[in-house]
Amino acid sequence: MTQVQELQNRMSLVEQKIADACKRAGRRPEDVQIIAVTKYVSVDTTRQAVAAGMRNLGENRWQDAAAKWSAISGENDAGADAGPIWHFIGSLQTNKVKEVVGRFTYIHSLDRLSLAEAIHKRALQLDIVVPCFIQVNVSGEQSKHGLAPQQLREFVQSIMPYSGIKPIGLMTMAPLDADDEQTRAVFRGLRVLRDELTQLSSDYADIQHLSMGMSGDFEMAIEEGATWVRLGTILVGKEEG
Ligand SMILES: *Cc1c(COP(=O)(O)O)cnc(C)c1O
Repeated sequence: MTQVQELQNRMSLVEQKIADACKRAGRRPEDVQIIAVTKYVSVDTTRQAVAAGMRNLGENRWQDAAAKWSAISGENDAGADAGPIWHFIGSLQTNKVKEVVGRFTYIHSLDRLSLAEAIHKRALQLDIVVPCFIQVNVSGEQSKHGLAPQQLREFVQSIMPYSGIKPIGLMTMAPLDADDEQTRAVFRGLRVLRDELTQLSSDYADIQHLSMGMSGDFEMAIEEGATWVRLGTILVGKEEG
């Protein structure tokens, strides 16, 4: 079996699990999109993943992503249309905004005003609008990035003037050591925050998406309303080095 076939098999397995989770929740599988998180794999495996039909790629550090981006999307001008869609899913340092914005279509980790301002400015230079997810630390775990739930409303209000940013949803991660019940509560909490926000004002109507769920917990995330799941290990694997 070639690596592409192996990746396609993994993809089918994941799609089946997504379909099952959607069925349990009374949702449509078309409403759940998959981001293949390639941070643990090589440039070559990332290429194979694209060849296997994975359209959305996620990376969490610019330092590690740069070589992959250049190899896969950097070499031809037509790349942006034909190639994969890149998602920046890790915490984003303000000094990396210049590199990331314009190369990565989506940013999933908008968590502070200084970052919003930097993305906005860069977007204006490039004459683009950057769809962003606002990262929320639903669990309140110390080590996690993201806004506290009670900061969300004010934050959303304060980024509305930034025309280079289009907030399209919320993102969260469950704590690593959480049990199923705690994990589900985190995902449900993000959905409730989304519902509250969209009901608050028609200005926030576009903040619909929920980026939540990783290899270990995506089925639960889908049951709780995830519209984007970020899958590394289960989908493209994990390589040493
Ligand atoms: C690494 C990572 C993932 C994917 O993790 P897996 O457990 O391998 O699926 C998803 N989201 C973020 C933010 C990550 O950093």
